[in-house]
Amino acid sequence: MGLTFDPADVTLPELGHRIGGRPRTGAPATTLRRPSDGQAYAEIPCADAQIVDEAVATARATWRTSGWGGCHPRERVRTLHAWADLIDAEAGELARLEALGSSRPIAELVKGDVATIAEQIRFFAEFADKEGGALPPVGDARFGMVQPEPYGVVGAITPWNFPLSMAVWKLAPALAAGNAVVIKPSEVTPLSTLRLVELGERAGLPAGLVNVVLGDGPVTGNALVQHPGVAKLSFTGSTRAGGAIMEAIGRSGVKPVTLELGGKSPQIVFADADLDLAAACVARGIVANAGQVCVAGSRLLVAREVAEELSEKISEIMGSKRPGATWSEESSYSPIISETQIARIESIVSASVSAGAEIVSGGTRLGQEGWFYAPTILGGITPDNPAVREEIFGPVLTLQTFTDEADALHHANHETYGLCAGVFTRDLNRAMRMTRRIEAGTVWVNRYGRSQDHIMPTGGYGGSGIGKDLGREAYIANCRHKTVLMDIGTD
Ligand code: NAD
Repeated sequence: MGLTFDPADVTLPELGHRIGGRPRTGAPATTLRRPSDGQAYAEIPCADAQIVDEAVATARATWRTSGWGGCHPRERVRTLHAWADLIDAEAGELARLEALGSSRPIAELVKGDVATIAEQIRFFAEFADKEGGALPPVGDARFGMVQPEPYGVVGAITPWNFPLSMAVWKLAPALAAGNAVVIKPSEVTPLSTLRLVELGERAGLPAGLVNVVLGDGPVTGNALVQHPGVAKLSFTGSTRAGGAIMEAIGRSGVKPVTLELGGKSPQIVFADADLDLAAACVARGIVANAGQVCVAGSRLLVAREVAEELSEKISEIMGSKRPGATWSEESSYSPIISETQIARIESIVSASVSAGAEIVSGGTRLGQEGWFYAPTILGGITPDNPAVREEIFGPVLTLQTFTDEADALHHANHETYGLCAGVFTRDLNRAMRMTRRIEAGTVWVNRYGRSQDHIMPTGGYGGSGIGKDLGREAYIANCRHKTVLMDIGTD
C-alpha cells in the first residue's frame, strides 16, 4: 500500500490537555490549520496557571506513588522498551497524524522521524541501569560515591518544526533518568505529542507520570517555566523565547535549564571542494523542511572563483523539489507552517533586497493554496544585511563570497548564533583548522546534517543555547548528582 492518505481518515486524539492519564477539555482557544491547504482541522484549549499547577501536582504525586524514580532501573528500561515497541507498531498512524498538521511530508516522516523515535527511546532507556553507582576510592579510611538522582518533575517545552522528534528528545532521557515530565508542545502542532503520551501509558508508563498541557508560550509556557514544582526545564525554540525564559526563571527562583535555540549556520565551500557533493549538501541543508530547521545551513560562504558554478548547481537541485500536500507520497518539499511564518519570510526577504541584496532564484510564494515558498538564493549580500543577521526559518540561502581561509572564518562566526557549520574542502589540514576555529556546537566536514545519529549530542554555542539534546549528555542533564563521603575508619 502506498503512503498517500486522505486527511479525513486520520483519527485525532481527544482535543484536550492530558492529565493523570485522562483528557482534560477546556474552551477552544487556538484553531489548528493544515499548512498544505490552510484548512482548519481542530481547536484546542489553552492551559492557564491553575491547570498547569494541576498537571505539575499530578506529575509529582504520581512520581512519588509509582516509585518511578526509586524502582530498580531495569523496570524503567522494560517499560520504555515496551513504549518503543508500541510506537513501532503504530508508526503508520503516528506518521499520518504528524503529517496532517505539520510541515513534514509523509514520505520523509516514515523514512525519518517516525522510524527513529523508537530507537531513540531505546537508546536512552539503556542508560537507566548503566550510569551511576561509581564508587571511586578516596583513600583507605574514606568511602565516597557520586549518586545520580532524578530531579522529580521536569518541564519540557517544544517547537512546531519536528513535533514528534522534539517531544521524544525531551521525554526519553528525562524518563530514563527516573523523572516525571509535564510537556507543553507547540500550540501549532500539539496532537502527535498527545498520541505519543497515550501510547506510553498503554505501554505501562504510570498514568500521570507524563502530563501534557496545551496552550501558547506567554500563558501556558510561562506558567510551566515559573512553577516552583518544576525542578528542571528543558526548552527548544527561538533564541527570543529562550531569553524570555531565562529572565522569567531569574525572577521566579533558580533552576537548571537546557536551551536548544535558533541558528544561522554557515556552509563554507572552498575552491578545492568536490562541488557536486557541496551543492547537494548545501541545497539539502536549506530546503529540508523548507528551511524550518534549527540547523538549516542558511548562509553559503563560497570561494569567489567557484561561486557562480556552485550557485548554478544548487539552483538546479532546488528546482527539482516537488512541493505538495504533506499527505501525498509524491511531495518532497514542505509547506511553511503558517501564514504568519510565510509573511515573516517575505518581510525579511524584502528588507534584505532593500538593503542591497539581489534575488538569484526563488523569492516568491508557490501554488494557489497552503503556504509554500520557493527555495531562494539571495546574492549581493553584505555582512549587515538582515537576511544574514536574523534567523529566517524558511528556504532562503544567502550567498557571500570569500577570498581566503581567514576571510571565510571571519564571516563564518556569527555575532549571535553558533549552532552548526559545514566545511567543504579536500584539504584535511584546512578542514581541521576550520573545525577548531569555528564557534559552533557542531561542525560537519564534507557533509551537512545529522542523519539521525542520536548517539552524538546536539546543542549550540552562544545565542544558540545552553546544554545538549541527545547523546549521553542529555541523559546526564536529566540527573542531579549527589556526592556522598563517609569516614569509615581503620581497624
Ligand atoms: P518559539 O520560540 O516561538 O516557540 C517554541 C515553544 O516555546 C512553543 O511551544 C511556544 O509556545 C513556547 N514559548 C514561546 N514563548 C515562550 C515563553 N515566553 N515562555 C515559555 N514558552 C514559550 O519557536 P517556534 O517558532 O515554535 O520554533 C522555531 C524555533 O525553534 C527556531 O528558532 C528554531 O531554530 C528553534 N529550534 C531549535 C532547535 C535546536 O535543537 N536548537 C530545534 C528545533 C527548533
